Amino acid sequence: MNNQLIPVSELSSAALCPVRAFFNRSNPFTEPAEYTICKQISSHLGSPVDKAVVWDEICTIAPGTDPSYQSYCESCIDACASREWRVASGNDFFVKSDRFGICGTIDRVYTESPYFSVTRSVKPPTSGIYPSDRIRVLGYALCLSEMSGKEVNGASVDYIPGGISRYCEIQPRDMRRFYSARQVLMNMNAGGVPKKPLIAPCEFCPYRERCDPGPTRLSDLL
Ligand code: SF4
Repeated sequence: MNNQLIPVSELSSAALCPVRAFFNRSNPFTEPAEYTICKQISSHLGSPVDKAVVWDEICTIAPGTDPSYQSYCESCIDACASREWRVASGNDFFVKSDRFGICGTIDRVYTESPYFSVTRSVKPPTSGIYPSDRIRVLGYALCLSEMSGKEVNGASVDYIPGGISRYCEIQPRDMRRFYSARQVLMNMNAGGVPKKPLIAPCEFCPYRERCDPGPTRLSDLL
């Protein structure tokens, strides 16, 4: 295996669309304001959240944040106020797995199971967990399990704008998708260019203008 560790966030992108993961590599990451806001709110969960304090912190972390995002920030805090949250023992915890060749930063960790949670800056799906979030949970669980020696079978996914936290229990299908996404990225590390999948979430993709608009040929898959 190539010694280059693959970020868990890349696995999640590749599971969504391999071509999107390819484009991401040539585009510098700019943190969206929604993400900055949800991350900062999540660091306060489990304690009373003061809207003014959180907004001040956000403006310090990202000084160019448009003031119009303050109402978004407040609506997220209101949404989160409707449930109890656990107090994290740590935030932004770096993890890696030499066995699986992956690494990443876990948003929140806890001393009791479930041992970590992932912060998301989107509303939750109608039910369950988004497939790309399941890959995130699996990747971090593999790392944390290897580093701590504990059995890590799942984690919470905190959908901050919806004020909802859902438990994601790792399933065999997640492991299969993980291997498939990791292979895509290992091929890219070796200089390969991924093909467009048969079904891709193009409607909301930032690269749809640059991407081949035609459908994937069935023959490409055979
Ligand atoms: S437009 Fe569609 S196929 Fe192209 S990168 Fe985006 S999601 Fe993938």
